[in-house]
Amino acid sequence: MTQTTLKVLKNYVGGKWIEANTDQSLEVYNPATGEVIAHVPISTTKDTDYAIEVAAEAFKTWKDVPVPKRARILFKYQQLLVDNHDDLARLITIENGKNFAEAYGEVQRGIENVEFAAGAPTLMMGESLPSIATELESGIYRYPIGVIAGITPFNFPMMVPCWMFPMAIATGNTFVMKPSERTPLLANRLAELLEEAGLPEGVFNIVHGAHDVVNSLLDHKQTAAISFVGSQPVAEYVYKRGTNNLKRVQALAGAKNHSIVLSDANLENATTQIMNAAFGSAGERCMAASVVAVEDSIADEFIKLLTEKANQIQIGNGLDEGIFLGPVIRDNHKARTLGFIESGEKEGAKLVRDGRLDEAAKQEGYFVGPTIFDHVTSEMKIWQEEIFAPVLSISRVKNLEEAIDLSNLSRFANGACIFTNDGGSVRKFRETIDAGMLGVNIGVPAPMAFFPFSGWKDSFYGDLHANGKDGVQFYTRKKVITTKWV
Ligand code: NAD
Repeated sequence: MTQTTLKVLKNYVGGKWIEANTDQSLEVYNPATGEVIAHVPISTTKDTDYAIEVAAEAFKTWKDVPVPKRARILFKYQQLLVDNHDDLARLITIENGKNFAEAYGEVQRGIENVEFAAGAPTLMMGESLPSIATELESGIYRYPIGVIAGITPFNFPMMVPCWMFPMAIATGNTFVMKPSERTPLLANRLAELLEEAGLPEGVFNIVHGAHDVVNSLLDHKQTAAISFVGSQPVAEYVYKRGTNNLKRVQALAGAKNHSIVLSDANLENATTQIMNAAFGSAGERCMAASVVAVEDSIADEFIKLLTEKANQIQIGNGLDEGIFLGPVIRDNHKARTLGFIESGEKEGAKLVRDGRLDEAAKQEGYFVGPTIFDHVTSEMKIWQEEIFAPVLSISRVKNLEEAIDLSNLSRFANGACIFTNDGGSVRKFRETIDAGMLGVNIGVPAPMAFFPFSGWKDSFYGDLHANGKDGVQFYTRKKVITTKWV
């Protein structure tokens, strides 16, 4: 029996599967069926402190393992992930609900992070200048920082952890992860494969649970840095508490991503991309398209085409052939989404497509069909707040300038996209839009592993983002040595 088929999940500490010191647990559901598939323990401060201390002990030796030797374990891990690609994807669909093709793509994104981290020998290289003054030279060396805590959300059970631990351990740190209590199964599978790849005991650890675990990670003297990904209020809280405890913190937060469609855009491409970006993964992506500003002159045609495509979407269990739209994560998230749809109607937006009426929305499982609002304004709740479900808001604008001004009113600034074939419009968009990840004629401008995931404003708290060279810097510190040979 593997860890992922156990009824009550165990924590993974010091290379051993151990029971949490608690009788409290939460049910883990398959959101497509409402069936309970496991129980996740709500671990205590004592459980967390123990894992941190084990990781701190492991750090004493892991930091001195030569970098190419650490990288070699990641090469082996990469191969194991490739060998298990299908099974990992299936597990994601079962606990998260996204369709199998999307889950398969998520595993691929995770593997790319491992591949990037395996480049640690090059990425950790320092710099030097042989003559800063007569017979005087200076150089920079990079070192790991200690125990890193990773706190992750439900929507990418594989990709988001892989933004963190592969680079953290490749650069010589040890790691304690607190997976989302709503999707905890995949994390245990990742640990099993790390063990198979030959990672020494204590380098990677998992403590399951909720806020008590998070608070213990934020407060313990021996955690050096915190990587957090989740909703905006929690990201702000984690950033404030972690930095108040003088830790290095990167906190990736919620979003409300804007797309702009200009009159010269290829509407076939724009509607396909926006349909995928708004309704793919049931809208539960921090890079989901949630607001579209479309030029008046093409708005009717754009909405007609988009609605036709939304009407083709197959809704159901993501493991079934041909399904595009799976469930949202929980029944209370479905109820919250229906609340947003009601508020949009009350505030005067025009409901063009009502996802409450789809057959699947009336069945078991937490389904909401694709929902489209027209004539949405920036005063409305559906424009302002992250819904994190398949609900898309459309605003009509006179021109590009009005679209950019509108988008820049948002407190969030993760991604933004433009659909046009005009170079000047793309340049104006690039230079004046307040967002950290931009797309031109694509719907989800999520950077690959070698570029930073660089949200702005209330979509990110910290300095160094996850991934790319930012990730290497976040998990390392420098020594600058100045030498005179006498
Ligand atoms: P969440 O904030 O509810 O949970 C994230 C993590 O924080 C979980 O591990 C959870 O246990 C913990 N947590 C929750 N409440 C807490 C509290 N009060 N105190 C301490 N810890 C707490 O987020 P979620 O619903 O799992 O994930 C969806 C959110 O994540 C969305 O807002 C989405 O935009 C965001 N997200 C952002 C990015 C990004 O790159 N910016 C990527 C993925 C997801």
